[in-house]
Amino acid sequence: LQCPPGDDPQNWSHDRVWTALRTRLGAADAPPLAEGALIERRVLDMHDYVVEPMTYGRLFLAGDAAHLVAPIAAKGMNLALHDAFLLGDALVGYLTGGDGDGLDGYSEACLRRVWDYQEFSHWLSEVYHGTATGDPFRAGTTLARLRRLFTSPAAAGAFAEQYLGTAEHY
Ligand SMILES: Cc1cc2nc3c(=O)[nH]c(=O)nc-3n(C[C@H](O)[C@H](O)[C@H](O)COP(=O)(O)OP(=O)(O)OC[C@H]3O[C@@H](n4cnc5c(N)ncnc54)[C@H](O)[C@@H]3O)c2cc1C
Repeated sequence: LQCPPGDDPQNWSHDRVWTALRTRLGAADAPPLAEGALIERRVLDMHDYVVEPMTYGRLFLAGDAAHLVAPIAAKGMNLALHDAFLLGDALVGYLTGGDGDGLDGYSEACLRRVWDYQEFSHWLSEVYHGTATGDPFRAGTTLARLRRLFTSPAAAGAFAEQYLGTAEHY
């Protein structure tokens, strides 16, 4: 649930949270949401950053240590796993007598996808949250993005590819 930066979780009572969830998730002809106790409430500041390059000498960064992407598009863990797979393969290659190319190219190979996902996350963040600024220009461009997604199969296909991360090359 979006709230202003610095908001206090105490401002979000059980009723306020569930009222907001019912408004957003309720659907016609669907059964009501099953309410449960809230065991934790936190205000999460959204940050994005990229450490570039992701290596320094024999130090190799992976996951959130190298890049933080706000959880808007659900990409952080996907990137962390992608880094880990690449680094694992590169280490095995190096330690089993390879030439070390995998380690040399590790940062660049990761960062191509990292920047792609950062850009997608920014784009989606604007779609979800841009209108909350009250700026009519941003509201107009947000609605244009949504209309394009729902009217253009090409735009919808490109969105699906980015959301699922199925592009062959980054
Ligand atoms: C609210 C929220 C929702 C998210 N939803 C999604 C999602 O739907 N999909 C998705 O792909 N990603 C999502 N993410 C992002 C995802 O959780 C992270 O990108 C991912 O967990 C990063 O993995 P990591 O291994 O790099 O770091 P972490 O998972 O943070 O692991 C680092 C570990 O190191 C430990 N540690 C820290 N310091 C030390 C120390 N000094 N000594 C020993 N251990 C230490 C920590 O306790 C932690 O267990 C979400 C994140 C948030 C906050």
